[in-house]
Amino acid sequence: MSTDLRDFIRARVRRDLEAGSGTAVATRFPPEPNGYLHIGHAKSICLNFGIAEEFGGKTYLRFDDTNPLAESEEFVNSMAEDVRWLGFNFIGPTFASDYFDQLYAFAEQLIERGKAFVCDLSADEIRATRGTLTSPGTPSPYRNRDLAENLDLFRRMKRGEFADGARVLRAKIDMASPNINLRDPVLYRIRHATHHRTGDKWRIYPMYDFTHCICDALEGISHSLCTLEFEDHRPLYDWVLDNIATNYHPPQIEFSRLALEYTVLSKRQLAALIDGGHVAGWDDPRMPTLAGLRRRGCRPQAIREFCRRIGVTKAAGAVALELLEFCVRQDLEAAAPRGMAVLDPLPVVITNYAGPGETLTAPWHPQQSRHGVRELAFSANLRIEREDFAEQPPRKWRRLTPGGMVRLRHGYIIICDEVVKDAAGRVAALRCRHVPESKSGSDTSGLKPKGVIHWVDAATAVPARVRLPERLFAEPNPAGRTLADALNPRSLRTAKALVEPAIARHDDQHFQFERKGYFAKDAVDHRPHAPVFNRTVALRDSYSPRAKAGT
Ligand code: ATP
Ligand code: MG
Repeated sequence: MSTDLRDFIRARVRRDLEAGSGTAVATRFPPEPNGYLHIGHAKSICLNFGIAEEFGGKTYLRFDDTNPLAESEEFVNSMAEDVRWLGFNFIGPTFASDYFDQLYAFAEQLIERGKAFVCDLSADEIRATRGTLTSPGTPSPYRNRDLAENLDLFRRMKRGEFADGARVLRAKIDMASPNINLRDPVLYRIRHATHHRTGDKWRIYPMYDFTHCICDALEGISHSLCTLEFEDHRPLYDWVLDNIATNYHPPQIEFSRLALEYTVLSKRQLAALIDGGHVAGWDDPRMPTLAGLRRRGCRPQAIREFCRRIGVTKAAGAVALELLEFCVRQDLEAAAPRGMAVLDPLPVVITNYAGPGETLTAPWHPQQSRHGVRELAFSANLRIEREDFAEQPPRKWRRLTPGGMVRLRHGYIIICDEVVKDAAGRVAALRCRHVPESKSGSDTSGLKPKGVIHWVDAATAVPARVRLPERLFAEPNPAGRTLADALNPRSLRTAKALVEPAIARHDDQHFQFERKGYFAKDAVDHRPHAPVFNRTVALRDSYSPRAKAGT
């Protein structure tokens, strides 16, 4: 029972165990299968599974599948896959729909105890009579129906005798309660819809507030952790469990939702981006979904580290995207082999290099020899990054200029003798000289160029498509705006790159393209002979996680 994490929820769990509550720790992660999991869910997953791991307990993956219209098997499968991908083993999955019979029996029990009634008001009428924060609601005219009539109507609702919206089952609590959630909330609604698991068996479906607490009790959950917007629902959670025949009553504990700058974390809003054609799908590399982050090249280790660093509190506020990028970069720094790729090629001819070429060797990783070495072809025809040459360099320029000198990474020092231009006056190629005695590893030239640049051999380099995902939104907090207006119009640039052939052949998925960032082979489109890479994150280490959040 040890953990280095000291948030208020872990403190509470520790206290409960020390007080000898007698129950083993059991948590659950309860998504509704109406989309793909996003990094906000990862916070909840890491919390629920982390607590169970640290305190010797278990965690259920429970699908809250009470709304047949929005839910599907595809979402169930992707969610289970994503939880496993993050590295967690769950009990189940279980489904709220596994408990539909029990839930129904508890609903009849509430009716028999005079705690629930069938109401014929429409959804609009219920809303209109609910009252406001400052004025009480108006009791339903059906509130005092007798028990036999309530039972009869509820059973007929179940048999499918009434149309959608004709009637609902409501709890009988307090229409004057200051907490609007307690003003006779709806427990069951009629929905003539086919459910992805129970098919056409049910014509009525239970509401979240009725379902969730009962499922928690049935599964013996010791701590029911949810986000702060459910704080006002806690009295209803408690009311339901207090009024049905169960001895088991887990505490609901709330923590703040993750918000991340420059994106939205809501399945509904993410679905709208897909429907609007703004992104290609749930796993588009710009999406904050776990599927999108994975496709982009983030590893689960990085996402777990991010969740560890953000911690668990009740405080609101968006987390800087830079913190996620920092975690991703730090994870890949040790894990990813290095290689060279030129994203915007400029031809370089080495005028004094005779012969067909030679094979250089270079380590796959500068510090970690376990990655081994690779071969690198060198010849008289090379490509460098166009932006590594400047005819009129700015101050402190360390790269190539006319007459200037630079080292080619793992290769030779070259000196630029001539700039060749095309008819439009654009730089078309550079004619350079190499210094034969300056070869990396056996350099006796005594020259000290200021810069080192990456390059590839023209004849052997493999053409690759490279995607450069940027922030999905142009503003840090898009959630309050019309999403389409807040989008970053340049969120996905692509480039035709040249990569060294050893990278295209290598089995790994993740690489650092030196000086350009971390890239991952696209899990869907990449082929060894036609590589496709996504940039996972650029190389920039100016961000310190201790620094203040912001752009
Ligand atoms: P969404 O708005 O994305 O649909 P939700 O809260 O409706 O989110 P559920 O599928 O019900 O999503 O979520 C399952 C669990 O994940 C819940 O316990 C929920 O509180 C938690 N969760 C969802 N979003 C976040 C978030 N941004 N930060 C932390 N926890 C979250
Ligand atoms: Mg939801």
